[in-house]
Amino acid sequence: MKKLFAVLLSAAMLVGTVFAFAACGNTNNLKVATNAYFPPFEYFSGNAFTGVDMEIASGMAKDIGYDGMTVSDMEFDAIIPAVQQGTCDIGMAGMTVTDTRKESVDFTDEYYESAQVIIVKSDDTTFDACTSAEEIENILKTKTSAYKIGTQRGTTGYMYSAGNEDFEYDGFPNLTTSGYDTGAVAVQDLANGRINAVIIDKQPAIMIAQSVSGVKVITDYELTSEAYAFCVRKGNTELLEKANAYLKKIKENGELDRIITSFFDGTATFKHNNA
Ligand code: GLN
Repeated sequence: MKKLFAVLLSAAMLVGTVFAFAACGNTNNLKVATNAYFPPFEYFSGNAFTGVDMEIASGMAKDIGYDGMTVSDMEFDAIIPAVQQGTCDIGMAGMTVTDTRKESVDFTDEYYESAQVIIVKSDDTTFDACTSAEEIENILKTKTSAYKIGTQRGTTGYMYSAGNEDFEYDGFPNLTTSGYDTGAVAVQDLANGRINAVIIDKQPAIMIAQSVSGVKVITDYELTSEAYAFCVRKGNTELLEKANAYLKKIKENGELDRIITSFFDGTATFKHNNA
């Protein structure tokens, strides 16, 4: 009997794992795919999802006819496949619109402009004399493969650093670019001296750097120019149109600004702690 129970238990655990991923279940919830290590857009506050995208998601779900939302946390590069396969309805993850991604999913209207920036150790003076992004890039071009840049795998930060034709960045083939599970892990490696720099989206850079001592973000020089949007399965025009209508509404009635400024104070310092 005990043995049977053990077998059942492990089977239940296995199923539990699958369910956790398939999350969403049979309720009439908007199934949201995200990577919750990207403050202030999505991160955990205790066990709860929070951040700009999560607030938009929750308001959108109710406004467009769902009972609520179910968020599935996954690696960033699993979000598009989850949306393509229909495991989740919508990807909401500070995701930059790129031509390559447009081949796999449909994007809503853009809701936030962003850029890549570089993070280095606090005592690193390499870029101190720079007065433009171009000057930062010129210095990066002089580095050898011993110079290591950390990025989050599958992101535009990686594409910018390693080079990507569709994203129209040559990258820096002279140095070493590596992909990490999350930006925070990359910044930790930077603090520990295992890599020389991290390239990641500006606001997450600022927030992650606030929680790791010994690093500084060079916020003045934006290395790229990007815009975030949500993604849905190709051809899911019903959801796309509803999501766009909701975005239009919250852009017009000030709700989007309210949400964004509740996580930023206008000087790009965060009011919220990454609990
Ligand atoms: N904006 C970047 C991208 O779309 C990073 C997104 C993220 O890490 N959540 O690739």
